[in-house]
Amino acid sequence: MAESLALQRTGSKAAVKERALQTVAALRELYPDAECALRYSSPLELLVAVILSAQCTDERVNIVTKDLFRKYRKAADYAKAPLEELEQAIRSTGFYRNKAKNIQACCRALVEQHGGEVPQDLQALVVLAGVGRKTANVVLGTAFGIPSGVVVDTHVTRLSNRLGLTKQTDAVKIEQDLIKLLPPEEWIDFSHRLIWHGRRICTARKPLCEECLLASFCPKIGVAKKLKGAKSAVLRKPRKKQSAAASAGQSPAKAKGSRR
Ligand code: SF4
Repeated sequence: MAESLALQRTGSKAAVKERALQTVAALRELYPDAECALRYSSPLELLVAVILSAQCTDERVNIVTKDLFRKYRKAADYAKAPLEELEQAIRSTGFYRNKAKNIQACCRALVEQHGGEVPQDLQALVVLAGVGRKTANVVLGTAFGIPSGVVVDTHVTRLSNRLGLTKQTDAVKIEQDLIKLLPPEEWIDFSHRLIWHGRRICTARKPLCEECLLASFCPKIGVAKKLKGAKSAVLRKPRKKQSAAASAGQSPAKAKGSRR
């Protein structure tokens, strides 16, 4: 048992693969019904919601889209809306000017090139305004059930690194690593479940390793203590800065004197 634990915590390809499959199994048990937290009733609504979710919480997006989706029902509605009106309707999601511009350009392309429908094709989606690989993967996986790739957001980035499934920080490279490790039939649910785990247990600032059911094979168990240590170091920084300034610009005696 101890031997297998040690093996799992090494970085060999086989160990990483094994850990990926352990993660899939554990997450499936923990969050059997995990799904996208954004509310939508059509592929177009999901596409708009995902564009709005950039730098914004899903809760806020759901509040905004409640009224938005009542008013704008088809791609043509967004395409012909006065831009300022659309901006005001999504204002509280932040970066509203850019988002409104992208949603309108995206919906105009849907009307002109796809008969007003959201295409079920990754290449056709990623060329739309405001749509990158992440958004395209969410829409294809969640609205159409097409496993086009693995959705990599801030939670998937953090947890994939902590769990030792990747060493990358770039979303596209992380996705490539995960695609190699996971069976395609797991791609859609894996992201949803990892995001849930990231929100509930393995949070950015206070990961609850002692409550985590992935702890038996996670190489970063106890990371909370390291984060706490890093935070203390940051809090101590001003004192360090003073001594660095003193040694760089003045003799210790002078520096001491200037503080009096
Ligand atoms: S053991 Fe800690 S670092 Fe690892 S997944 Fe769980 S909460 Fe995150």
